[in-house]
Amino acid sequence: KRFSTYPISAEIKRALTSLQYINPTAIQQKVIPLVIRNENQDYVVQSQTGSGKTAAYGIPLCDKIDWDENKVHSLILTPTRELAVQVKEDLTAIGRFKRLQVKEIFGKQSFEKQKWSLKQKTHVVVGTPGRILDHLQKGTLDVSKLQYLVIDEADELFNRGFLDQLEGIIQFLPETRTNLLFSATFPDALQQLIERALSEPHFLVN
Ligand code: AMP
Repeated sequence: KRFSTYPISAEIKRALTSLQYINPTAIQQKVIPLVIRNENQDYVVQSQTGSGKTAAYGIPLCDKIDWDENKVHSLILTPTRELAVQVKEDLTAIGRFKRLQVKEIFGKQSFEKQKWSLKQKTHVVVGTPGRILDHLQKGTLDVSKLQYLVIDEADELFNRGFLDQLEGIIQFLPETRTNLLFSATFPDALQQLIERALSEPHFLVN
């Protein structure tokens, strides 16, 4: 099935056409219809980089956001700045015709500039755990209306020692949210995080 037959808005379809995304990848075929349909279901997805995983969550999330929303709808946590920048670019492109505002937040950038940027319209925040936790603790990132948490490359987050910060971030999030976790591998510590942070997730294998 092509994207043109998917139950997503015309603005998203137009963006996918301009990106020359015509056919969904295997992981996108699995994830997109489920996330679009099941608002309150958590998913754990086994996925490799290069599989199209970013658009697998980016398309349904961008489809769900109303431009009028004036608080952060989705938070995406990544293990590296490079991945945060990539995700920001991909989601900005997917949400382009809805004028969705995606902000990247990571260390080694001015905190004050980020604080100012977060005061402007922001639909999606993507970044590394340390600086995101910093903004949450200082009250400069409002997640009171958050609907989706995406944990991207969860095994890498764990490898880089971000597990504590991740748990810290989760304390700030509304309890009724939908969690999507993507990982190539599932070491024991990650299984424990999944049990603590997610609620009865369904597992999808690529
Ligand atoms: P990712 O696994 O998210 O890093 O994506 C890998 C690459 O595939 C990126 O360059 C995407 O822009 C591209 N891509 C993702 N989905 C599609 C698609 N449905 N059709 C063509 N290219 C895609």
